[in-house]
Amino acid sequence: MFYNNKLIIPDSINELHQAIKNNPNHQLFAGGTHLALIEQETTKKNSSTIISLENIKELFDVTRNLQYVDVGAMVTTNKLLEIGNLAFNDLLLDTLINTATHIIRNQITIGGALCTEKIRYSLAGTLACMDSRVELIDLTKEKLVSKLIPINKIYKDDKLLIEKGTLVKKIRIPLTQFDFEKFYCIGSPINDPFNTVILAFGVNIDQTIINSIKMSITFPKCGIYFSSFLSSELEGAQIPLVPRTVSNVSQKIIAEIDKKIEGVTSLQKERAKRILQTILYQIIPTKSLFDK
Ligand SMILES: Cc1cc2nc3c(=O)[nH]c(=O)nc-3n(C[C@H](O)[C@H](O)[C@H](O)COP(=O)(O)OP(=O)(O)OC[C@H]3O[C@@H](n4cnc5c(N)ncnc54)[C@H](O)[C@@H]3O)c2cc1C
Repeated sequence: MFYNNKLIIPDSINELHQAIKNNPNHQLFAGGTHLALIEQETTKKNSSTIISLENIKELFDVTRNLQYVDVGAMVTTNKLLEIGNLAFNDLLLDTLINTATHIIRNQITIGGALCTEKIRYSLAGTLACMDSRVELIDLTKEKLVSKLIPINKIYKDDKLLIEKGTLVKKIRIPLTQFDFEKFYCIGSPINDPFNTVILAFGVNIDQTIINSIKMSITFPKCGIYFSSFLSSELEGAQIPLVPRTVSNVSQKIIAEIDKKIEGVTSLQKERAKRILQTILYQIIPTKSLFDK
């Protein structure tokens, strides 16, 4: 793999800064699992320099307070599962557990899972539902300034908006809890990305009234859909939802997907509609909602 490429392994963000300035035609390398999948495409650009992030200690840092956990971009999905086992909500834990196999999860980094070009994997949609933020540093500039922005702002449809030379340093994950949450991945983003649908969903409920609702639907090759009207439609609604509401809402969502996201296949739309309807019917009053 990458036989003709020069390899640089910086020990700090300052060294990485120099490496990026001296090698504008570079490729950042984290766990390497996505790059391995697109190996042929990448090796064609045989003049590019591979810059591995494996020795930059700051990118492995994890810190926590009462509101959120800051996770370095080089933390692996397995490590995140280990750290978050008692702190994170089931939505995030299910997303991580349902990503690849244990062995591959030892390699997949959080930064790598968010920064793939041309394909969107499952972590981005879940972290966006939790209002997570990413810290970015533009390493092409002389002076290093970092900014913390909402995760959904780094994507537009199927495009990653992060410029070459910009590093995701860390991800700030709020310790959000939902009263009802679901993660579904139908299909495989690796084997069948054109037909796969990944849905992340969380609601908070006050006894029998929906208070707040978050949802993302990822179509790996087309982008992530965030509904603009789901909250206004369902916040304040009484649970269990009646069939007419479920049917109306799911139809409107598919119509909005049609309008907003290009290239979603009929199978994906049908899958998205059915998953959504299944989830909406599952939101029922429980004893724990009354005991809160
Ligand atoms: C066998 C297999 C099964 C998989 N199954 C699933 C699955 O079930 N669900 C799922 O969601 N995903 C799955 N994946 C996809 C996996 O999430 C991606 O391959 C992910 O990109 C891996 O991260 P990485 O650390 O290996 O990234 P890399 O391959 O090292 O990098 C990916 C991209 O991100 C860029 N990058 C990496 N780190 C940074 C950073 N800190 N700042 C800026 N840019 C950066 C790199 O330059 C590169 O362009 C699977 C992958 C494999 C190989």
